[in-house]
Amino acid sequence: MFDLSDVRVLVTGGSKGIGLGIATVFARAGAKVAITARSVADLHTAADGLREAGASEVVTVSGDISTRATATSIVQDAVAALGGLDVLCANAGIFPEATLKEMTEENVDQILGVNVKGTVFTVQAALPALEKSGRGRVILTSSITGPITGYPGWSHYGATKAAQLGFLRTAAIELAPARITVNAILPGNVLTEGLADMGQDYLDGMTKTIPLGALGTPEDIGYAAAFLASREAGYITGQSLVVDGGQILPESPEAMA
Ligand code: NAP
Repeated sequence: MFDLSDVRVLVTGGSKGIGLGIATVFARAGAKVAITARSVADLHTAADGLREAGASEVVTVSGDISTRATATSIVQDAVAALGGLDVLCANAGIFPEATLKEMTEENVDQILGVNVKGTVFTVQAALPALEKSGRGRVILTSSITGPITGYPGWSHYGATKAAQLGFLRTAAIELAPARITVNAILPGNVLTEGLADMGQDYLDGMTKTIPLGALGTPEDIGYAAAFLASREAGYITGQSLVVDGGQILPESPEAMA
């Protein structure tokens, strides 16, 4: 089961964090892996690790996904280098903090640009190659924040992560005739460079709210992506999979044993 050795996968935001965790799981399976991000230095470091992990080929493409022109050229360059595309993991995203009182128009435009426009443009650009694949998969990295939970300072972020789910339900219907499935993973708190920036107090507080007693690892999200990318998951589309150590389950702090 879950033979991904012949898969060509593109992971946006694959230079670190959850994206690198996803790319690493595919690399270990022997897949051809393309990763994208803005920082060329981070991409090169990540690519070295993916080769060591067992990827049969590693491609890096740098650029900002928040404009259509760049997102399109990033995807087209990656597809050309991979020789086609079977799986798109639209994962790149940002989560800057701003309360409603302090939030500026620029704050809102920036987060919508990367998290929503970036997702839409990336998927659009990948469609011709995914159609050709005959077993195309789109896997979005959404979040529990927005679709299920809330946290002060992240209302604009939550809006973007819920928007991804609204997008995927119609995209799944539109792309079904081409046998392309579209699903989302909703991570809880996963220990990435981005999350670590929030500080140790935040990380400790969050850990206490998770029934399984630990923050997630980037690879935890990678295993879910590998499942959704597998041939065996080919009949699943338009769905979201929560991977959060049970974090959304307790009704109150008292519910935690
Ligand atoms: P991270 O460690 O900060 O990594 C973000 C990745 O996205 C990096 O590769 C970054 O590279 C790239 N990126 C950021 N802005 C970009 C842009 N404008 N254009 C192209 N690439 C860009 O973040 P993470 O924690 O792994 O989060 C990844 C995804 O998971 C996001 O969609 C986030 O919303 C979601 N998520 C995270 C958590 C969590 O607990 N960590 C929980 C739920 C959901 P460059 O900076 O070099 O561009």
